[in-house]
Amino acid sequence: MSSQEIEVLVVGAGQAGVAMSDHLTDRGIPHLVLEKGRIAERWRSGRWDSLVANGPAWHDRFPKLEFETVGADDFAPKEDVADYFVAYTRLIDAPIRTGVEVTRVVRNSDRPGFTVQTSDGEVQARYVVAATGPFQVPVIPAVVPADSGHTQLHSGDYRNPAQLPDGGVLVVGAGSSGVQIADELRRSGREVWLSVGPHDRPPRRYRGRDFVWWLGVLGKWDLSAPPQGAEHVTIAVSGADGGHTVDFRELAASGITLVGRTEAFVDGRMRFAPDLARNVAAGDANLFALLDEADAYVTRNGLDLPEEPEARILGADPASLTDPVLELDLAAAGITTIVWATGFRTDYGWLQVDAFDENGRPAHQRGVSTEPGVYFLGLPWQSRRGSSFIWGVWHDARHIADQIQIQRGYLAYDQQAALAAEGAVL
Ligand SMILES: Cc1cc2nc3c(=O)[nH]c(=O)nc-3n(C[C@H](O)[C@H](O)[C@H](O)COP(=O)(O)OP(=O)(O)OC[C@H]3O[C@@H](n4cnc5c(N)ncnc54)[C@H](O)[C@@H]3O)c2cc1C
Repeated sequence: MSSQEIEVLVVGAGQAGVAMSDHLTDRGIPHLVLEKGRIAERWRSGRWDSLVANGPAWHDRFPKLEFETVGADDFAPKEDVADYFVAYTRLIDAPIRTGVEVTRVVRNSDRPGFTVQTSDGEVQARYVVAATGPFQVPVIPAVVPADSGHTQLHSGDYRNPAQLPDGGVLVVGAGSSGVQIADELRRSGREVWLSVGPHDRPPRRYRGRDFVWWLGVLGKWDLSAPPQGAEHVTIAVSGADGGHTVDFRELAASGITLVGRTEAFVDGRMRFAPDLARNVAAGDANLFALLDEADAYVTRNGLDLPEEPEARILGADPASLTDPVLELDLAAAGITTIVWATGFRTDYGWLQVDAFDENGRPAHQRGVSTEPGVYFLGLPWQSRRGSSFIWGVWHDARHIADQIQIQRGYLAYDQQAALAAEGAVL
């Protein structure tokens, strides 16, 4: 690929890039997808070994293809998810080139479109879609110095318990990744501490339906912005072992010590905020609120779904909740490793166009950026809550394809008018 011209260049072949290709193909729009690794690379090499999808296979997929390797209600292992997207690219005959990194995109000054530099030559593109993922660069808060003597790694680099040095583990962050990793480490026989911040914990299943179904019928996947005050609230769900509701009291009963938000590290001692009980109570309230909404939906629609009062029963509060640890000498507690399940940020250093706000964040409306011809796809809350998830990105890709088609339509009109004018002169 020394030099090539293409109408639409899609950067990244994760689920977002594949969805984009699907909709562009449906509209007959010529395009090329460049992926620096393999198709769905992050599902292969950016997740821990035992990870399964958080949503059941009937939901966490694109409309044109079902999972063949697992049942509809099962949670697909991460390799199956990656294989699914590879199968999808074959189904739609997606024009993808793997092993090619996009290193720079700049707007042309002397002609329409963009010059795209890649690890394999240059591409001229009229439109560019940045589909490089919502979770690109691991974020580790600057709390513990690198030379503290503790092994520190991000959840994105965690693979399995055997990877860690012997000893106890502090897992910071109680979203889906943190709780699943803490649970796995505890089951492997480790001493585990879990630092719990604000979270939602929807029921895995309620009245016979998975939470993804409830979020769908209650319109919550479609929310256009996080509820006010809940912008930094993580969601704790798990498809592990067939799926179960994340229950912090159960995690504590299994031997995990719960602590509040990790705040500071001074002289070998970790300090935790006195907010554990509040965070757990808010998570319980979120669970109960969803159960209430689900019950109201059942009544309103006259559905025959079995009642489930036991979903509202909470276990006894563990000691770590009633008498929380606020400071812990890590070495004395035998903690050798800290796993930071503290999220990711984006990095668009390669996209050198006017598509970012003063904080460097994508400036866009539903993925249509402030730089004409540049689009984002797969951003958290791009158009709705589901935007960064498998289910949602396919719908956002349809919108971006529509927008590109609309712009092409205007340009085609211009060209027709110019040709007609030329004809009149002649
Ligand atoms: C632990 C974890 C579990 C998750 N589980 C689920 C789940 O069960 N269900 C669900 O719906 N969602 C889940 N998600 C959320 C989301 O589905 C995934 O993060 C998914 O990988 C996002 O897909 P994407 O295509 O937007 O981005 P990515 O999968 O990150 O794909 C982006 C691609 O772009 C490539 N790339 C990046 N930069 C360049 C470049 N400069 N040039 C060329 N290529 C480039 C990367 O190699 C990558 O393949 C999970 C996320 C995490 C972190």
